Amino acid sequence: MRSKIVAGNWKMNKTLEQTETLLAELSAKLPDTDAEVMVSPTYVNLTGAVRSLESSKIEVIAQNMHFAESGAYTGEISAEMLLNIGVDTAIIGHSERRAYFGETDEILAKKVVAALAKGIRVMFCFGEELEDRQSGKHFKLVESQLRNALFSLDASAWSKIILAYEPVWAIGTGETASPEQAQEMHAFIRKTIGEAYNTALANGVSILYGGSVKPANAEEIFSKPDVDGGLIGGASLVADDFVAIIKAI
Ligand code: PEP
Repeated sequence: MRSKIVAGNWKMNKTLEQTETLLAELSAKLPDTDAEVMVSPTYVNLTGAVRSLESSKIEVIAQNMHFAESGAYTGEISAEMLLNIGVDTAIIGHSERRAYFGETDEILAKKVVAALAKGIRVMFCFGEELEDRQSGKHFKLVESQLRNALFSLDASAWSKIILAYEPVWAIGTGETASPEQAQEMHAFIRKTIGEAYNTALANGVSILYGGSVKPANAEEIFSKPDVDGGLIGGASLVADDFVAIIKAI
């Protein structure tokens, strides 16, 4: 059975003190839930976050990682470094990494393989730009993003893959895909995985929706059968909003 997941993508936000304050608030207000709850503070605050959340059910995940084991990659972080501080899940392929840091499908495929080889669970992000949707190419684009980065993996690797469908036009814009648009794409993603592998595997993959999820729209989006939770940007930076979204699942 696939897990329900609510994950916060904190991006380049929150100093050390602000991180500690938000984590303390979240820990205190965390509702009783079967869903996995994750937060992703910036790199410099990961170690502190892991320590602060030692006795909490909230998991700490990374926003990114490099594909190389170690070496001359200034500014980068390896899978081993994450594992060493107790972080075993990494977001890979966020649209901001693709757009601002030149991360191509080819680079992302290498990151996925490197993460899985070390036992890191991958939260793989993908989604179309507005012009892809307007020109009716969104399904083809999403399928190619999945194929290029993930479909060479062995079926057994998929137990460590979480998908986050994030239409780029809905990220940080206040514009949300309608629950029907999210369901339509999630069902398509599941069907595409089923065709590439098999239906049982496809039914076991958690597919999160990301893009301006807020307390006001979370419940309706999460009620759709192929939506297994959310990757939350802006609203994950405010404890009461994130908690309300967790309650919605
Ligand atoms: C994100 O960046 O992954 C995201 C979904 O952001 P927001 O919720 O702010 O649209």
